[in-house]
Amino acid sequence: MKHLLLTTIAAVVLVGSGENCDEVKHDNWGTITSQQAEFYAARDVPRSQIDLTKKWYEIASNAWGNYGPLEFWIVGTNEISATTLDKKYCELRNQKDKTISIEHCLNRDHNFVSYAKGGNAGLNTRRNENEKWSGFIITMSAKFPSPQEEDYKPVVLHEYFHVYQHAHIYSKKNSERKSRNLENPWWSEGGAEYMAQLLYSKQNGVRPNYLREIMERKLRALKDLRDGESIKDIAYGKRSHIAYDLGAWFIAFIINKTSEEAYRVNFFKDLNAKGFEGAFVKNFGASSNDFLDEFHKIFLKLSLKDKVKIIP
Ligand SMILES: [Zn+2]
Repeated sequence: MKHLLLTTIAAVVLVGSGENCDEVKHDNWGTITSQQAEFYAARDVPRSQIDLTKKWYEIASNAWGNYGPLEFWIVGTNEISATTLDKKYCELRNQKDKTISIEHCLNRDHNFVSYAKGGNAGLNTRRNENEKWSGFIITMSAKFPSPQEEDYKPVVLHEYFHVYQHAHIYSKKNSERKSRNLENPWWSEGGAEYMAQLLYSKQNGVRPNYLREIMERKLRALKDLRDGESIKDIAYGKRSHIAYDLGAWFIAFIINKTSEEAYRVNFFKDLNAKGFEGAFVKNFGASSNDFLDEFHKIFLKLSLKDKVKIIP
């Protein structure tokens, strides 16, 4: 779930040419906008699911700022409806950027039919040297999670936090974007997951114990972490759940040692100019390796009772 962005960027950015700095400086990337997200849905998606997705997008953008351009594409389970939505999607891609061929778009790997079959949610960040249109595309579906599950709501927040993360990296160069968002999932997924769950836990009607419950569940990943292994070395793939779950704990750990503002606001403000490590040291007061060392060697060894003390 939720890790499509890196593979998509890698697939899209095949050829690098000189970046036009003026173009990057003068477009509106990373600027808070009043332009609302666009919503598109397959024919079999109920109105209530579109409204639910909109509601949680609004909660996220009110909390973290409204970034864009952003499109939501909501897929149901009917494959014919998903195919029709795919056509609409590719026509829109071509309309927003004439260099994108409709046929090439229709033949992409992870199309809406695969979402209709397998479910899931994902973000596709489009910002590279080869395409004229930069923006964010979030896909939601009918399962994993389904709109009936509570998890659907924090998943919308999670995907939107990825929008927030990527909105703070301006470059169109894949290497520069990757060096700031990092290649392995612990940092970006841990951040999206913890911020989503934290924001969700603060909403009216959410049970008071929610965040602790969710975070305790994430500790089950500890049994899959190998002796001496660091979460930062775990790649996307079969074992990425460890990086998602313990990565979320790592963000909680940082916020507990500093503040939510240091992570959510100030780190991201500095990220583009200072890079990952520069922004990390400036805002958290030590290197990422020092933090990771303490996290693995001390914090993760604490009792459950002591660990959950850092969860608000
Ligand atoms: Zn994610």
